[in-house]
Amino acid sequence: MTGMLPDRPDALDVLVPALRRVGTSEASIKSFVIHWRRVIDKATRLPCPLCYTQGGWGELRPVTGRDDILYACRECNSRFGMDGSVTS
Ligand SMILES: [Zn+2]
Repeated sequence: MTGMLPDRPDALDVLVPALRRVGTSEASIKSFVIHWRRVIDKATRLPCPLCYTQGGWGELRPVTGRDDILYACRECNSRFGMDGSVTS
């Protein structure tokens, strides 16, 4: 059966709280949100918020096999939970 994926939160609804949780400044968060919206339609790799605040790009991959983790970054190995948590 296709098209029956459970509801998943909007990426920024997860990534922004994750950035707050690790103590990122509001200015850096705002910068990432602007960056995300600018690139999201054409990017071949989703930017990782933690890599971005370190001056890089990273590569967020959707984690489909779990219902608690939304994305993981291939560069820094951070994992972003549905509830805005981040583990690395
Ligand atoms: Zn990363």
